[in-house]
Amino acid sequence: MTHDEPGPGQTYAIQARQAIAILRKQGPAIEIEIRWCPAHKGIPGNEVADKRAKLAASEPYDHGVEWLTLADGTRASRYYQLKSGHALTGVYLKSTDNRPDDHCWWCDPDNMSGTPQTRDHLFKHCSRWKDQQAKLWARVKEETKRGKRKWHVEDLLADERCSPAVLDFLRTTYVGQAAPPVEGSWDSDEEEEERAVAAAG
Ligand SMILES: [Zn+2]
Repeated sequence: MTHDEPGPGQTYAIQARQAIAILRKQGPAIEIEIRWCPAHKGIPGNEVADKRAKLAASEPYDHGVEWLTLADGTRASRYYQLKSGHALTGVYLKSTDNRPDDHCWWCDPDNMSGTPQTRDHLFKHCSRWKDQQAKLWARVKEETKRGKRKWHVEDLLADERCSPAVLDFLRTTYVGQAAPPVEGSWDSDEEEEERAVAAAG
């Protein structure tokens, strides 16, 4: 395995990662090896794995498999972060004390209008992503017969029918991807925290 990001069959992948995390905590010296088994016969646990894989393939949504994880890992995690509200947006970063204010760094970089960078703003109003928004909402309307004004972004992100359009929006924008540094803050704060942790531990 080159990485341990959840892929298709995400629920099971997450469960596996959690199991690994628990094992590591209990015994840091335990060596964990992940192996690819080409055949399923005669290997304990493989019958179960096989069954689950087949279930997941036949009824993906019922078994926690979301096709969107086929998108690259970074984009999938941006999607989940936006979905949960814990994404790199002005409002979230302000609420976690990682930015001094919540204004939109794209359309209001000097905080002249004080436009809060909410998910709603990014998906519907931010002038930086106008073209991408137009494409997104046209596609959503085609798919669901509901127009932009009838959608709360929260519902948009929760609706599987809209996932392809949303993922395309994320692919063509930097929404939820990175925040510009704030003068004299992030790095020094982090260093301070690291020092504090080192002193305590
Ligand atoms: Zn904006």
